[in-house]
Amino acid sequence: MRRKVIAGNWKMNMLPNEAIEFVQKLEPLVKDTKNEVILCVPYTDLFYTLNMAQGTNIKIGAQNMHYESKGAFTGEVSAEMLKCIGVEYVIIGHSERRAYFAETDETVNKKLKSALKNELKPIVCVGESLEQREKGETKDIITNQTRLALEGLSPEEVEKVIIAYEPIWAIGTGKTATANDAEESIHAIREEISKIYGQDTSDRVIIQYGGSVKSSNSQELFSMPDIDGGLVGGASLDANEFAKIVNFEN
Ligand code: PEP
Repeated sequence: MRRKVIAGNWKMNMLPNEAIEFVQKLEPLVKDTKNEVILCVPYTDLFYTLNMAQGTNIKIGAQNMHYESKGAFTGEVSAEMLKCIGVEYVIIGHSERRAYFAETDETVNKKLKSALKNELKPIVCVGESLEQREKGETKDIITNQTRLALEGLSPEEVEKVIIAYEPIWAIGTGKTATANDAEESIHAIREEISKIYGQDTSDRVIIQYGGSVKSSNSQELFSMPDIDGGLVGGASLDANEFAKIVNFEN
């Protein structure tokens, strides 16, 4: 049985004092969940949230990393740097990074390999644009992105990767994919993994849904057979709302 993994993506929000208060508020609200709880925070909040989350069931992740381990890459942060301060997760290939920061399937693949080499758990984002959906290309786009992201990994490594299916048209727009549409896309991703890496591996990979997840739709989405939780943007900035999403079964 796969676990449910609920990850917040704060994007470029939350000053350290706000981040500290958030973790203090969230901790008692999610302490009894059996679901995995992750907060992916800006680099400047990592140290503070890692300290606050110590001894709790809240895990901390970053939102990006560079694929090289060190060197002349001004402004960048490596997997090794994240790992050595205690970060556990890292988002790779978010659609905002693909759109605004020239992230490609090739850099996503390199980052994924570097994250795994440094024992970070990657959350890799895939998803189609509205135009691609309207042209009927959704399945091709997301299975291609998945294949290229995972290229060169062993089945054992693939099992350590979390995939977040995030239709671009649903991110930050208030428009959510229907539970059936999300399930269909995530099932297609699982089938693609099965074709390349085998059924056992595919059955073990965590695949989340992301795109305007809120407490009012999380239960329906996360109850679908192939959907193993969510990557949550806007709604993860409010501790009460995020806790309701984490505790979606209640
Ligand atoms: C995201 O940033 O990954 C996301 C899904 O955002 P939102 O929940 O705000 O749509």
